[in-house]
Amino acid sequence: MAFSFESPENNTRHRCQARRHGDWAIFTCPLCPGFERRLNLRDGTMQTKPAADPYVLHEGIFVPTGLEQTYSLPN
Ligand SMILES: [Zn+2]
Repeated sequence: MAFSFESPENNTRHRCQARRHGDWAIFTCPLCPGFERRLNLRDGTMQTKPAADPYVLHEGIFVPTGLEQTYSLPN
């Protein structure tokens, strides 16, 4: 039996919730209270406060109202 902490198939994926705050799209995870990822809609800057569990992958999509572009998180 093998034990691995980094095997991709063992990673959990969390779907983030997105909201807009000024120029930022803010993604938060309903399952990880400390996790927050911000995406600047003007210059694409991303800031992340890591979750307690670094092996959880977070994904989320933010669709700005009135714009055709879709911003998505690669992770
Ligand atoms: Zn999470």
